[in-house]
Amino acid sequence: MLQEVQLLCAGYSRVDWSIYKMGNPAGRLVRAPAWMYLLRSTDGLLLVDTGMPKACIGNGHYFDEPGQPPMIVPEMAPHDWVDEVLARQGVGVPDIDALISTHWHFDHAGGNQLFRRQPVYVHPLEMEAGRSGAYPPECSDPTLDYRPIGDDYQPTPGVTLLHTPGHTPGHLSIYLEPQEGRPILLTIDAVYTLDNWQSDIPGSQEDPDTGRRSVARLKDVARSTGAAVFFGHDPDQQHEAFWQARMG
Ligand SMILES: [Zn+2]
Repeated sequence: MLQEVQLLCAGYSRVDWSIYKMGNPAGRLVRAPAWMYLLRSTDGLLLVDTGMPKACIGNGHYFDEPGQPPMIVPEMAPHDWVDEVLARQGVGVPDIDALISTHWHFDHAGGNQLFRRQPVYVHPLEMEAGRSGAYPPECSDPTLDYRPIGDDYQPTPGVTLLHTPGHTPGHLSIYLEPQEGRPILLTIDAVYTLDNWQSDIPGSQEDPDTGRRSVARLKDVARSTGAAVFFGHDPDQQHEAFWQARMG
């Protein structure tokens, strides 16, 4: 049973406005939080995502390309490294019983390599993209203990991994049913912001048509369950108080 869901901030990136929503003009950077989620269950501790790679600490030039304006500028401090984020919760990497890796973008899978002794739940299409070199090497280490999953996989009761492709081929969103309180739907990057959700205009998607179908599915889940919806990178949704209010 799922007992508690904790939202953990894993630093920020400044991201070009055109990535946030299709049709937005480029040239303005918006500060976006990166998240991990710690799930405490009667079966143990599950971690969702691992933030940015260590190489981003103090390095806003991780993505710079010569002659191009910056589109993504990491703002990562030493305390944003997954190890440190967990330590603030009194949790060590060896205490984590399983990792859920929603997709292999730099701000979600940067610390995956630390989790060598745990099963890592991931969608097989994400692994396939990783093998073809779509992701940074820190995020696509082939030597971890991967457990490729099908759709609607439940690593533990109360935690359902939904395959929501579009943003990436193997992208996962997560539906949570805690023992107490409202269900929670973590869209992850299928939907970046409340504005994407309400306007039906998505942010960056590798495959926009597939992404649109995934968002429709998430809306069905939210409607039919009354779940509180938490978006992947909404700058207005970053405060603990906001989280508490949504979960109340
Ligand atoms: Zn992403």
